[in-house]
Amino acid sequence: MKVAVVKETAPGERRVALVPEAVAKLRAAGLEVLVETAAGDGSWLSDDAFTEAGATIAARDELAVAADVIVTVGRPDEQVIAGLRPGQALLGMLAPLPHPGFARRLAEAGVTAISLDLIPRTLPRAQPMDALTSQANIAGYKAAVLAAATFGRFFPLLITAAGTARPAKVLVLGTGVAGLQAIGTARRLGAVVSAYDVRPETKTEVESLGASFIELTSVGPASGEGGYARVLTEDERQAQQDELAGHIARHDVVITTAQVPGRRPPVLVTADALKSMAPGSVVVDMGASALGGNVEGSRPADTMVTENGVTVVGAGDLPSTMPAAASAMYARNVSSLLLYLVKEGSLAIDLSDELQRGVVITYEGQVVHPALSEPAGGTARVDGASD
Ligand code: NAD
Repeated sequence: MKVAVVKETAPGERRVALVPEAVAKLRAAGLEVLVETAAGDGSWLSDDAFTEAGATIAARDELAVAADVIVTVGRPDEQVIAGLRPGQALLGMLAPLPHPGFARRLAEAGVTAISLDLIPRTLPRAQPMDALTSQANIAGYKAAVLAAATFGRFFPLLITAAGTARPAKVLVLGTGVAGLQAIGTARRLGAVVSAYDVRPETKTEVESLGASFIELTSVGPASGEGGYARVLTEDERQAQQDELAGHIARHDVVITTAQVPGRRPPVLVTADALKSMAPGSVVVDMGASALGGNVEGSRPADTMVTENGVTVVGAGDLPSTMPAAASAMYARNVSSLLLYLVKEGSLAIDLSDELQRGVVITYEGQVVHPALSEPAGGTARVDGASD
């Protein structure tokens, strides 16, 4: 079976789906690996390093024709999608939920599509394949480091002959994988950290990292299915924003990580809350996306300074800013899933297996994932998202 790695072309994307170490592992299992010329450049991985690990370097056209499975980080570009042929498989973080038309198109093309971002994360055997977690850990770490680098004062308490610096007060909103990593990193840098999540069960994890958990009196628990949060009602959203504003005003740095699967990120920091922050404060919005983020007015991959001197960093794609670490971890996720799916040298899809049912979105000409086969994309569609 031939596994092909294409060079990512999305703006700002520097990761690559396999690194030489993972190539060697796949080769040892009897798979052939083709890597597009310069695919690893963004992660400082040369074509020679891939060749030494047993891969064949090839031009895109050649590799697309020969591949049995094309592996990617994000959704591939139109050139790759248009060139897919029946029987080929596509494996990557395809983010199919907000774009049901994409899955329909792959099904019609006879492509087996496997989306790593849908892996059933609570299955113990899926943990080595959990790319959402590996990339969220990187993003959470980088968010705290970025906040510290942007902040014009110290994170730790410093007592020097030239004066004493009080520790920064950091607030982390959303305490899933990324939020917990941001808390741990900010704590290691010496900040005093508080955190809030709409799922109260995260309180013990927050406290075990040395941060204090903020409980809002106006919003009850909003845990949804599978360990995720549910969407808040309009009244809950308003109450949450109002009560959070008081806490936000008392902090120097706010890092937001809140997500609800398949939905646009909830707004937690309103324009009024930004106005209440002291000049020099920093807000890092990890939810920033084209559809909006956790911070009103934040823009993805852009930094803005409000009239009252608050720096808002739109940081929705932090893993690609640490491409070497992110590619290495992602490649481990990809190779683990591939090795799980391959039997006797070829892809053996078995939809009676819970793990496979979670990740396989199209198979034998059909959209087979339950979250996508609901009429018109069901409840998963993000308002305003296109196919
Ligand atoms: P996520 O990226 O979907 O969301 C990040 C956080 O935002 C979550 O904690 C969520 O509760 C919070 N959030 C959403 N709306 C909010 C709002 N309006 N206000 C405040 N906070 C809000 O979450 P994630 O990091 O992917 O983690 C999701 C769950 O998956 C967690 O329960 C995590 O423990 C679990 N998980 C389990 C495993 C495993 O069992 N192996 C692995 C990874 C993650």
